[in-house]
Amino acid sequence: MFANTKTLLQKAQKQGYAIGHFNINNMEIVQGVINAANQTNSPIILAVSEGAIEYAGLNYLLNLAQTAAKNSKVPIAFHLDHGKDLNIIKKCINAGFSSVMFDGSHLPFEQNIKITKQIVQHAHKRGISVEAEIGTIGGAEDKVSSRKIIYTDPKQAKEFVQKTGCDFLAVAIGTSHGPNKFEGPAKLRLDILQEIQKQIKIPLVLHGASGVPNNLVTIAKKYGATLPKVVGVPNDQIKKAIKLGICKINTDTDLRLAFDAGVRKSIQTHPSDIDPRHILAPARDLITQVVTERITTFGSKNKAK
Ligand SMILES: [Zn+2]
Repeated sequence: MFANTKTLLQKAQKQGYAIGHFNINNMEIVQGVINAANQTNSPIILAVSEGAIEYAGLNYLLNLAQTAAKNSKVPIAFHLDHGKDLNIIKKCINAGFSSVMFDGSHLPFEQNIKITKQIVQHAHKRGISVEAEIGTIGGAEDKVSSRKIIYTDPKQAKEFVQKTGCDFLAVAIGTSHGPNKFEGPAKLRLDILQEIQKQIKIPLVLHGASGVPNNLVTIAKKYGATLPKVVGVPNDQIKKAIKLGICKINTDTDLRLAFDAGVRKSIQTHPSDIDPRHILAPARDLITQVVTERITTFGSKNKAK
């Protein structure tokens, strides 16, 4: 019932656009994302992190995603983001996820190869595709954190893909998780991406790629959020990265920001209204808005068929 992630990404690769991966934690986020996918007629990847599974429970999230897929006219894939715990990865494979990520980027290179390869063999038997990572994406989000960006080495990337058989690869080209993505100019190392693209043919994945749009930061701050020095990846950089082989773009921070802005605004503008539906509905709408903008930037609009 879920779409096959690999099939979606290979089609995107061929036609030169990217599929949005959006992290979900609760029902309103799922609905906000799915409304945008349906309105724009775009394929989409719903993703859960180990932190999301810990918060909401695997079955709740799985059932939300299944309900979303059943009630949508667009292809929806379901993906484990940054899997590190082998038990959780196996549970997700057995539960019928479309794809899982094994993040062994913190491990020595040879060990990352060894474990990734084992997971690939296990997942492929069940028709599930695997995302892997080499290099280090900066910043902190959920259970994943790293102070320093270590750029992906293109030659190592080639060896890694050959030896593991992974289906798509997350590369480190200067992005960071969280809302503070750049200390200097907001630029990606597109030169490194170009070298990686020359070396390997599988779809590439960009993490830490939220745009941190001004309109959302403004609402959140107006209603009390403290967000110093927030900066996202500019849309022109995203578009250039897509031209150089990025086919899957992960977005979490923008959804958090939309949710935060919506909730803060409803609570402060209607202090006597304690109905959770009235508090959360505007947050859901802001998520739909920001996901629609992302899908437009990625070029996956009207690519559902
Ligand atoms: Zn990530």
